[in-house]
Amino acid sequence: MIRTAGLTKRFGEVLAVDSIDLDVRPGDVYGFLGANGSGKTTSVRMILGLVLPTSGTVELLGQPMPRGGHRVLPRVGTLVEGAAAYGHLSARANLNLHDASGGPAGRSTRRRRIDDVLEQVGLAGTGRRPVKAFSLGMRQRLGLAAALMSQPELLVLDEPTNGLDPQGIREIRELLLRLNDNGATIFLSSHLLTEVEQMCTRVGVLDRGRLVVQDELANLQALTGRSVVHTSEPAAALAVLDGRVEKRDGERLVVRADDPAALNALLVGRGVPVHELVAERRTLEQVVLERSEPGPVG
Ligand code: ATP
Repeated sequence: MIRTAGLTKRFGEVLAVDSIDLDVRPGDVYGFLGANGSGKTTSVRMILGLVLPTSGTVELLGQPMPRGGHRVLPRVGTLVEGAAAYGHLSARANLNLHDASGGPAGRSTRRRRIDDVLEQVGLAGTGRRPVKAFSLGMRQRLGLAAALMSQPELLVLDEPTNGLDPQGIREIRELLLRLNDNGATIFLSSHLLTEVEQMCTRVGVLDRGRLVVQDELANLQALTGRSVVHTSEPAAALAVLDGRVEKRDGERLVVRADDPAALNALLVGRGVPVHELVAERRTLEQVVLERSEPGPVG
């Protein structure tokens, strides 16, 4: 859906994007993660043909960008850095204008589609209220509504949850996952690890312009070979596990054991009460810290 090869952007002295090879596949919810200033927006703009690369190539839905943009961009819903909207008009009027420039849909079809997207993003109740009275989060939802108007097969969203409160973030997350269930591929940039961890299937991590990680989330969250045990009798557990406990924190023990079922059987067999036992996985945060260069991050 999106493929870049050696994609690079230099602004004078600043190497904003450094030879990245992105690979976004059909059906992905791809999280493009990076600290502020790491080059996400510049990458997204190059993918959409809004900024010319210094070197390297972009293929969007099989077409070279920016040359093939007129063929593929109608099939892509986009939200890039604070969607533009007319402040004196309502959400509905803005979407009407947006769509009028985008395609020849009949008026009633368009009205239904607008109702539908306003409902999807949670702006159905805003009526005639002008957009200038909207909060940042509501404007962000309106931008998303505009991106959804054409029922795109690919969504490219730059920080789609920017400005939203936790409830709003959850709503947008659920909406994006629903769209993905219905067949849309989603590429979103974010600086929030937990957001990406909670919804993405594939992850790319940008560190000062370089793509330092690109993999399935499930592969990145590999097992560590340790299990975490909660027991009300930690001393008894320590005695049974003799030397395999790497860390004790009250009733929580981190044990070197890659087979949680066997560990559970051992403890229960020796009369140690086990309240909870899980195989430990690496968090995305650990992966990012391991692969990123130490030093000040933007
Ligand atoms: P943020 O989340 O803060 O938007 P980002 O990861 O999207 O950050 P970019 O906006 O792509 O990062 O910026 C990457 C680097 O390129 C930064 O150092 C920025 O200052 C620089 N940069 C971006 N656009 C320009 C420009 N038009 N002219 C000069 N430098 C730029």
